[in-house]
Amino acid sequence: ADEDLESVPLSFPSISISSGERRWSDTTPYASKKKLQSWFQLPNGNWELGKIITTSGNESIISLPDRKVLKVKEESLVPANPDILDGVDDLMQLSYLNEPSVLYNLRYRYNQNMIYTKAGPVLVAINPFKKVPLYGNDYIEAYKRKAIESPHVYAIADTAIREMIRDEVNQSIIISGESGAGKTETAKIAMQYLAALGGGSGIEYEILKTNPILEAFGNAKTLRNDNSSRFGKLIEIHFSETGKISGANIQTLVQCNEGERSYHIFYQLCAGAPPSLRGKLNLQNAEDYKYLRQSNCYSISGVNDADEFRTVMEALDVVHIRKEDQENVFAMLAAVLWLGNISFTVIDNENHVQAVEDEGLFHVAKLIGCDIEDLKLILSTRKMKVGNDNIVQKLTLSQAIDARDALAKSIYACLFDWLVEQINKSLAVGKRRTGRSISILDIYGFESFNRNSFEQFCINYANERLQQHFNRHLFKLEQEEYIQDGIDWAKVEFEDNQDCLNLFEKRPLGLLSLLDEESTFPNGTDLTFANKLKQHLNSNSCFKGERDQAFTVHHYAGQVTYDTTGFLEKNRDLLHLDSIQLLSSCTCPLPQIFASHMLTQSDKPAVGPLHKSGGADSQKLSVATKFKGQLFRLMQQLESTTPHFIRCIKPNNLQSPESYEQGLVLQQLRCCGVLEVVRISRSGFPTRMFHQKFARRYGFLLLDHVASQDPLSVSVAILHQFNILPEMYQVGYTKLFFRTGQIGVLEDTRNRTL
Ligand code: ADP
Ligand code: MG
Repeated sequence: ADEDLESVPLSFPSISISSGERRWSDTTPYASKKKLQSWFQLPNGNWELGKIITTSGNESIISLPDRKVLKVKEESLVPANPDILDGVDDLMQLSYLNEPSVLYNLRYRYNQNMIYTKAGPVLVAINPFKKVPLYGNDYIEAYKRKAIESPHVYAIADTAIREMIRDEVNQSIIISGESGAGKTETAKIAMQYLAALGGGSGIEYEILKTNPILEAFGNAKTLRNDNSSRFGKLIEIHFSETGKISGANIQTLVQCNEGERSYHIFYQLCAGAPPSLRGKLNLQNAEDYKYLRQSNCYSISGVNDADEFRTVMEALDVVHIRKEDQENVFAMLAAVLWLGNISFTVIDNENHVQAVEDEGLFHVAKLIGCDIEDLKLILSTRKMKVGNDNIVQKLTLSQAIDARDALAKSIYACLFDWLVEQINKSLAVGKRRTGRSISILDIYGFESFNRNSFEQFCINYANERLQQHFNRHLFKLEQEEYIQDGIDWAKVEFEDNQDCLNLFEKRPLGLLSLLDEESTFPNGTDLTFANKLKQHLNSNSCFKGERDQAFTVHHYAGQVTYDTTGFLEKNRDLLHLDSIQLLSSCTCPLPQIFASHMLTQSDKPAVGPLHKSGGADSQKLSVATKFKGQLFRLMQQLESTTPHFIRCIKPNNLQSPESYEQGLVLQQLRCCGVLEVVRISRSGFPTRMFHQKFARRYGFLLLDHVASQDPLSVSVAILHQFNILPEMYQVGYTKLFFRTGQIGVLEDTRNRTL
């Protein structure tokens, strides 16, 4: 986007209004209504802009743009903003804050490629689904110099860096939104900016190169997004005292279900492996592998898998994954693919099976480095302990297929974790850590489909936690701080989701505990699980039992009905201990590492409920418990940071630049409480600073001598000198509180003077 700067306008039309007009007026009497513009809701739900002709009693006559004249009830009208406010870059500036006005404003900007809009402290980003000329070095430079004021991810990243340095507090950029809304792209744009500003050592280049690797191994095409992340990611970028990037660390949140196509890397490998590698791994075409054949979708429009493979290989070099290790990685991928091709024959009249000795079995054994007979054995039998006796149980066809698929899944999951670990080693910060960092969280957003299963259950639970973080930061802490500091503050109501979180997390009677408990019972089924929920949780206001082993949770973003079918199986880790033992005896290095990883995991002291696997005395964490553990670690890291929120919104479900569905946008805006945020921010004082710090930071700008040198007197003198209006700030016991934007002039003067 940066090749042709001259033709690209670097500033957007931006409307400035004086602070006096920037008043909260949703509740001001809508007195002289004549000629006023008003939103009127049509039966189809869309809003139409009309002009009020006359009003009598509680009825008004309005004229619509098509010259139609209607008599409408007063309640069906919502005030519209004057034209001068069209396209304001912060929703805070709207005189009338209501849904149609917000929708109109966002749409107005979107039509002009202004996809970013502030909603008070939150950045709203609407996915353009096309290249927009907003990125690249010239834009980065312009945001750095503050030559552009228009809302942007760059501006958020810039603020994060500045606040990290100014306040000496770690920062986070929390990106959320539905699948396909643009989170991962936004995260990359933020990283781009941080790398540009904090670059120099070369490590920033390595950090950027983690993106193609993690996307290849962790993303898949789905119906909603051709490049859908199937894992959550928190990347923590470390900075030195001088503000230069010194390293990074990546945390992931377990992989969820695959998409319509499998992970990109499989297709890339099949399409792009050079001949020598093909030979070594006995690679075939994607169509020849059963795991890849399942979806019957082999390509993504506009994407060349072979090219992508080369990109990934280069990136692996950049992050210092040794060639030898790279080959081991590819061998594991091929092993997974060949595992899927292993078939079984029935050997007796009880439907017991044996793995067929064909190329599938042969290649897997060779790729992981084990004996064919051993592999055959673990795929068709299971060692059990009955009392003090070890017995060998033969597997039926479906059990054998489960064992095979569980092995493939575990190898892949371990491979992903191992890769992340290697990348982290390579990006590790030196011993002299400053502890200063900016973390970027890209996590799958709230999901609600016609049929919702275990995956949605986990995802939505994570989003519930994230929402609480958001609420806490923006609402709760805000109010508590005002009250503590003696600020006059009219409370703003907001939805607290603690009840819903309790529903998930309470022990022993919460959704997660009950799920784990039922998963450990040999006779537990999805139906008994559903019944237990209904029995124990029906009194919870966020829970409702449904027919047919389903239940509904009242999430912050709406009600979701979950079908418990498959819950227990997905929650249990189905990998047999025999399989882990086989991996540990392999001659190839990676399977051994994976096995020890799986075993240490199971040897860990029990954090959550345990369950016995395969009758042997192994203890493994359930999937939900593992998920919860990772989520808690993520949240813990975020707790200690100053968060910056970006809400991504998609204007349609078709990944199309042409379509903009108001209803879909509105639903997403409601889900994340954008209006409430604006409301609270407008009535609040989001910028705050201790008297002392304020006096120290700006005191030197004072032109006149101040009699008393105590911080508060100095602060007040500064406020007067800069003409900060009384309604724009409040003086608390310990801090000064400002409405948004007020401190800007002080900072600017300071920067100019320094
Ligand atoms: P999510 O991570 O929220 O599921 P992605 O970040 O993968 O969504 O975005 C989905 C698709 O939308 C991308 O592959 C890209 O085509 C498009 N997209 C997202 N953000 C932008 C942007 N800022 N500019 C252009 N296209 C975008
Ligand atoms: Mg994504």
